[in-house]
Amino acid sequence: MTAGTSDALSELARIWRRYEADPEGAIRAVTEAGCRALDVARCSVWLLDEARTVLRCVDLCEIATNRHTSGTELRAADYPAYFRALDDEEPIAADDAHHDPRTAEFSPGYLAPLGIGAMLDAPIRLGLRLVGVVCHEHIGPARVWTRGEQKDAAFLASLTSLALELRQRARREALLSATLESTGEGIVAVDGERVVAFNRRFVEMWKLGEAPGNVSQLRAAMDARTQRLARFLGTASEILADDTDAVDAIELSDGRVFERTSRPQIILGETVGRVWSFRDITGQRRAEAALRASEQRMRELAIRDGLTGLFNRRHTLEVLADALASSARTGEQVTVGLIDLDHFKKVNDTHGHLVGDAVLRDFAQVLGGRLRGTDVVGRYGGEEFIVVMRRADLAAARHVLEAIRADQATRALPEDVPRYTFSAGLAAAGDDGGDVTALLARADERLYDAKRAGRDRVV
Ligand code: GH3
Ligand code: MG
Ligand code: MG
Repeated sequence: MTAGTSDALSELARIWRRYEADPEGAIRAVTEAGCRALDVARCSVWLLDEARTVLRCVDLCEIATNRHTSGTELRAADYPAYFRALDDEEPIAADDAHHDPRTAEFSPGYLAPLGIGAMLDAPIRLGLRLVGVVCHEHIGPARVWTRGEQKDAAFLASLTSLALELRQRARREALLSATLESTGEGIVAVDGERVVAFNRRFVEMWKLGEAPGNVSQLRAAMDARTQRLARFLGTASEILADDTDAVDAIELSDGRVFERTSRPQIILGETVGRVWSFRDITGQRRAEAALRASEQRMRELAIRDGLTGLFNRRHTLEVLADALASSARTGEQVTVGLIDLDHFKKVNDTHGHLVGDAVLRDFAQVLGGRLRGTDVVGRYGGEEFIVVMRRADLAAARHVLEAIRADQATRALPEDVPRYTFSAGLAAAGDDGGDVTALLARADERLYDAKRAGRDRVV
């Protein structure tokens, strides 16, 4: 080995770090250094396919022009002796390439046209597997490859192997990062102090503007954006001590809601950090709230009377049935009243239907305002109303309705409402019957009695 040749290799070793992020450049540097170190015209790196039947040139350096090319393929079927020699995984030092049994088959089609007289090929291994070969081609007559040159070739093959590892790692990392970026979720992984990985979606969702920085900067930024201090980025020791999985929802100060999934990152049984993923569920939450509100409205509509806003007949009768059932168990007094406006037809006839409606609404308000919270008022139909009073016997119920009736004569009325009266019939559970039908029949009888007796009274 001359001083110049070893210089080329020590220079390559010195600048190798430069190629850590550039494995393709590393391979080009190897072929170039190969030309210089072994003083050959051509140096190339060839890789085997999976089946080991094709060698493909990934880089060929021709030092005279400093040109790099690639793509040539050699098939085992065409060069069986060479592929067999490769399988031995020993360097192929062919001093006289035209006559060496391992390389002679290249002679007519390859060596002769290019003027190559000697070849020195060193196997490239990745792990324990043969993956290719670094090939040195000497243009000119036969040449004896020294032991030093053979060692240099082996060194270049091991550098190529490193470059291939770098390339594999770069591909794995690119794949990982493409996967991280392809999800709609914002993802961040931290160890105790550092943010070890994150995707763009995470930065966007949290409106960080730039890379998240270290864990304490990230903690401050996230806490500033959440409504209640989320404090999910604890101290380093808290992060590492926590080995639980969790899913919950967090509200941001700008109104958005994120579903947060939190998992420990465990390597070989040891918690080394934590990964959070965030899914924006604001739209989903809003839709759910709107659906709940509209269901609530539907339920309300289903039990209300449209004109007066009181409960409708069906709902009031359900309430009555429930009240009677619990009264049968507890002995609680339940009284029901049927109320009918007097001569209402005349109101309509005299003042018109709209005024009739105003009267119905006015009376609904009076009943609603004067009865207790435990009493239930419904529109029974037309100008008839029903009240269900719990914990009230006949006398108490009559007292309440009588007070309302008396008040009708003098109370201030809305402008569009003419003075009107009502009649009511009451029936109490127990005394007057145990079920809804019996009780209503009794109340209706008494209402009829009130009408017959001259109206404007409670019977
Ligand atoms: P009585 O004192 O015997 O109860 O006589 P009345 O006129 O009140 O009874 P009747 O059953 O003859 O008339 C009830 C009227 O109520 C007839 C109907 O047109 C009217 N009515 C029923 N529902 C409504 C409504 O929603 N709005 C209005 N304006 N009128 C209604
Ligand atoms: Mg009527
Ligand atoms: Mg009437």
